[in-house]
Amino acid sequence: MTSVEVTDRVVGSSSAAPRTGGSEALLTINAGSSSIKFALFDADDLDRRLAGQIEGLGNAPSFRAHDLRSGRSEHNAWDASYGPRTHREALSWIIDWLEGHESGLQVAAVGHRVVHGGLHFTTPVLLDAHVVEQLAALNALAPLHQPHNLAGITAARDTFRDVPQVACLDTGFHRAQPFVNDTFALPRSLYDEGVRRYGFHGLSYEYIAGRLLDLYPLHAAGRVIVAHLGNGASMCAVRDGQSVASTMGFSALDGLPMGTRCGQVDPGVLLYLMQNKAMDAEAISNLLYRQSGLKGLSGGLSNDMRVLEASESREAGDAIDYFVFRIKREMGGLAAALEGLDAVVFTGGIGENSKLVRQRVLQGMEWLGIELDDARNRAGEVVISTDRSRVLALRLATDEEAMIARHTRRLALPVLAGQAADRAGS
Ligand code: ADP
Repeated sequence: MTSVEVTDRVVGSSSAAPRTGGSEALLTINAGSSSIKFALFDADDLDRRLAGQIEGLGNAPSFRAHDLRSGRSEHNAWDASYGPRTHREALSWIIDWLEGHESGLQVAAVGHRVVHGGLHFTTPVLLDAHVVEQLAALNALAPLHQPHNLAGITAARDTFRDVPQVACLDTGFHRAQPFVNDTFALPRSLYDEGVRRYGFHGLSYEYIAGRLLDLYPLHAAGRVIVAHLGNGASMCAVRDGQSVASTMGFSALDGLPMGTRCGQVDPGVLLYLMQNKAMDAEAISNLLYRQSGLKGLSGGLSNDMRVLEASESREAGDAIDYFVFRIKREMGGLAAALEGLDAVVFTGGIGENSKLVRQRVLQGMEWLGIELDDARNRAGEVVISTDRSRVLALRLATDEEAMIARHTRRLALPVLAGQAADRAGS
């Protein structure tokens, strides 16, 4: 274990140095509660140069990065008292590392994943002080995620002062959903003030919709269910590339059970916990976000599907059974919302890697027109349905970072062109 002392140093460009040329890069940042994931792309062709993360912030931080061009990886772990403690320190450390790793690094633009765009932000947006304020006003809608996203934004804006930065919203893809999937049957005034079904994982769904369009344009123009099954899990019904319905709702708790989140739960259970077990909001939040899902159902064994699959315990089996059952149930519901089905896509850490979950979900779904090809599924092929299956079943890798990079490039280019024109004129 190496110990690296970190100072809160501000790095990056606030100069008017010309930013042109092939070595310019786009930096993407995905700041979670205890981690910052980053990736660096060529600004010209969006080729990914490297990706990495600092995780364990506030506890036992560690850093790892993988350079896709050289194929080399790096890993650092700190003693708890030395490592970066805050998002700002972590970002500062990442920038220092990037500058050491990439000689002459010029970051042309920065893209951020932001969990909540509320009602106002339906598409990616260039960040300025006002937009940051508007995003911060949404903290109450995603208290466990939004403040961390904003901490990453603040740190990056302090670091790269003149560099255009873009917020990419995880809710944006779902905002055009019809009223019936946007609302709860609560008094209308709550809907009007923003108590709605926002849905999340939008960047992942947008990426998959684009990938499907490249690979299978006819299916992409039809009715598709995408199952994003990771530590966070949700499903989305997509028609002609547009989100029609999704399993996540007002928060990222609803729908499928997840690693440690509960998924759909009868609100009566929450009343019971408050009234009979004297649990307050913090205790309930901890229960729903951190103690439930696969971890809760497996009796605390693990939130990791690999561990559950390897376990012989009855509770681990129950957890997988419930996970699979809920996915099948939602698949039926989403197919009804789409009035039929042309393709189903598995993605996310579990969707991409667990043959067992894919096999168990698709087994018995012939009534919906899906016929699984066991050998293709076991081999991890892209197409996992048989040739005669009416519905195409696919396994596709998602890439939220690539989506952020694309949006960032699109929105930043005019700003960069304007800056270059200003410099030329001055
Ligand atoms: P996040 O929602 O944090 O982005 P990921 O999409 O990376 O999560 O998914 C992480 C999860 O994927 C792990 O917790 C684990 O349950 C699951 N996973 C990863 N690899 C495998 C595998 N080979 N078999 C089964 N599950 C896997």
